[in-house]
Amino acid sequence: MALPIYRTIADMRAQVATWKADGLRVGLVPTMGALHAGHLSLVNEIAPHCDRIITSIFVNPAQFSAHEDLGTYPRDEAADLAALQATKADCVFAPVVSEMYPDGFTTAITLDGPALGLETDNRPHFFGGVALIVNKLLSQSQTDVAIFGEKDYQQLLVIRRMVRDLDLPVEILSAPIIREADGLAMSSRNVYLTDAHRPIAAKLNGILKALAESKAESQDDREAAEAQAYDLLLQAGFTSVDYATIRDAETLAVPTAATTSRRALIVARLGEVRLLDNMAAR
Ligand code: AMP
Repeated sequence: MALPIYRTIADMRAQVATWKADGLRVGLVPTMGALHAGHLSLVNEIAPHCDRIITSIFVNPAQFSAHEDLGTYPRDEAADLAALQATKADCVFAPVVSEMYPDGFTTAITLDGPALGLETDNRPHFFGGVALIVNKLLSQSQTDVAIFGEKDYQQLLVIRRMVRDLDLPVEILSAPIIREADGLAMSSRNVYLTDAHRPIAAKLNGILKALAESKAESQDDREAAEAQAYDLLLQAGFTSVDYATIRDAETLAVPTAATTSRRALIVARLGEVRLLDNMAAR
């Protein structure tokens, strides 16, 4: 049977209402489409935690700034639907922009805490847009559980904090990063990589691993490990490095003596393409 695809909030809600009337637990997998194995893994990961799964596909204009790639962001709905058909997804919610942001839309969300620094230094508008769309999707669908990838680790923390701060009645799950065979974290934007850049991109994960495994207990050791990762990225051929850092895994603040778990995070650029990766650090 073809996967039902809902274009309006009302139609999607009507489906959720039927499921809830039957006492079923509903899960949401938010995506921007151009689906790869990382996205599909989220559907598998959420499946044991709910009875029905909605996958949303929406390229959210609010999280792109004017100079970013909203117009050229990869879109292939037919391929996305074919890929989802082979998963445990029960329906797709794929609204048009005017359904999500009708004329006169003015509300914004202000963030602090884990939203400060890192991505925000480079993309100040980004998490405000993400928080807005996730909030809307959660409130539209009234799902019991939603899942986000560790690939976007800061985003995951921002969403967890928003759900806690706004008392949203939803459980947030996370899922590990799915990688290509050579270690490159899967991303919809990897299709932008040129043939020349692709082997360089593969080196990011090894440099991240060395950073994550470095002895970085003192501030001096940590800063030396970060500087080394930075240099290795440039030597490997990356165009520039947005950050290569070890942070408190819970807050993303600079680690202190009280920090109990750490996360290594790197964002480096190859031409116009920003590559993100992160992993647990010692
Ligand atoms: P996006 O379509 O890029 O907005 O991503 C939708 C969801 O998929 C987010 O929760 C991402 O963190 C997650 N995701 C993206 N890439 C991966 C990956 N390689 N492995 C696991 N999850 C991913």
